[in-house]
Amino acid sequence: MRTDVLVVGGGIAGSTLASILSSRGFDVTIVERRPRVGYPHHCSGILGFDAIRELVTFSEDWVLSEINHATFISPGGLKIGIDKPLAKVVDRSMMDLETWEHALSSGARGMLSTPFKGLKSRNEAIVKGDTISFDLIVGADGSLSSVARAFGLRRLETELGLQRRCEGRIGDEYAVRILRGSNFSWIQPWGDCVKVGAIGEFGEIMEVIGSCKSPIGKIEGNLIPRRPRKRFYGGNFALVGDAAGQVKPLSRGGVLFAVRAAKILAEEFERGGLSGLSSYGRRWWEINGREVALGMAARRYLESLSSRDLDNIFLFLRDFEDIIQESFETDRQTSPLSRVPKAKVLKLILMKPRATLRAMMELMRQMVVSW
Ligand SMILES: Cc1cc2nc3c(=O)[nH]c(=O)nc-3n(C[C@H](O)[C@H](O)[C@H](O)COP(=O)(O)OP(=O)(O)OC[C@H]3O[C@@H](n4cnc5c(N)ncnc54)[C@H](O)[C@@H]3O)c2cc1C
Repeated sequence: MRTDVLVVGGGIAGSTLASILSSRGFDVTIVERRPRVGYPHHCSGILGFDAIRELVTFSEDWVLSEINHATFISPGGLKIGIDKPLAKVVDRSMMDLETWEHALSSGARGMLSTPFKGLKSRNEAIVKGDTISFDLIVGADGSLSSVARAFGLRRLETELGLQRRCEGRIGDEYAVRILRGSNFSWIQPWGDCVKVGAIGEFGEIMEVIGSCKSPIGKIEGNLIPRRPRKRFYGGNFALVGDAAGQVKPLSRGGVLFAVRAAKILAEEFERGGLSGLSSYGRRWWEINGREVALGMAARRYLESLSSRDLDNIFLFLRDFEDIIQESFETDRQTSPLSRVPKAKVLKLILMKPRATLRAMMELMRQMVVSW
């Protein structure tokens, strides 16, 4: 069998790419190892408004809840609140399934229960029971990408995120508690119940999930990339979404960066064929590099602090609640950083010079990566 573009993985990144490329006339084949797209799901489904706008298809039927208040809680219990519409909670299974169907109705050939197993040659993939030759292969196969491995890329550093649906109500609020460094737990609305989850060490996650007294269903989760890959393309391959490590550094949300990547890749491939792949990388970094660099630096800063220091940072940030309220967006989580007056930033630096130094080094590293 032959195809112009072989997409491996029928999650949001793969189906978005397949939708766009097939609607532009390419012959696209998308292989998914599972028998059913979207199940089991592993996501909280919290989407900011940019992410929703950038999806190739969207239905209000997917929306389970709205988030109009967020509370961030320090390890010692200090709180900072935001009151404004921040996000919608969507059913990721429905979203992934309907985006897959959108790709098929745009002309893509979809193959379920068809894992990518490796390469026969640079232009031929071995999938279950078949060999598929292609001009371009795209790994949209998650953080442990087999496509990345087949092209000799290193395994991504990952961290664990788990959650569980529980009985209870929290209205339209999202509450985040900092556990340690940049690890956090959360409770969010999920239709007529809640989801409780955490990102961090297995033990601390299980403690959070264990606090859910009336669980519904199983524990869900996945490995989340710690940072984007510097390069996520090569001669005739590209990676999108979690396979490329394209997640927001602070919340670890990946949908926005994944659908952006798919759009940019489709445009550049249409414009320049395989020679457009380097423009894909350059444009992705141009658009998202600032958020990644500042987010990674902020995260490095947090990871250098003790719980007591984190409480002090909350005390410090309380002076800027107005700025945070006004400028924080789910899809632009670092915007408040550039609004804090310089003299106050200096005060923060003097409070924790070592943490600041580490954050600056991370910032420089990320700036080099995004060039
Ligand atoms: C607990 C948790 C909560 C999260 N909450 C949010 C959130 O609220 N908002 C947000 O934006 N992001 C969130 N994320 C992150 C988000 O879920 C991911 O970034 C996003 O789903 C990545 O999409 P993807 O298509 O790149 O990868 P995936 O969704 O992982 O899709 C990859 C697909 O590839 C398939 N596949 C894998 N290997 C092969 C193979 N060899 N052959 C064929 N198919 C293969 C898989 O079966 C899968 O269907 C969360 C993650 C976790 C773990």
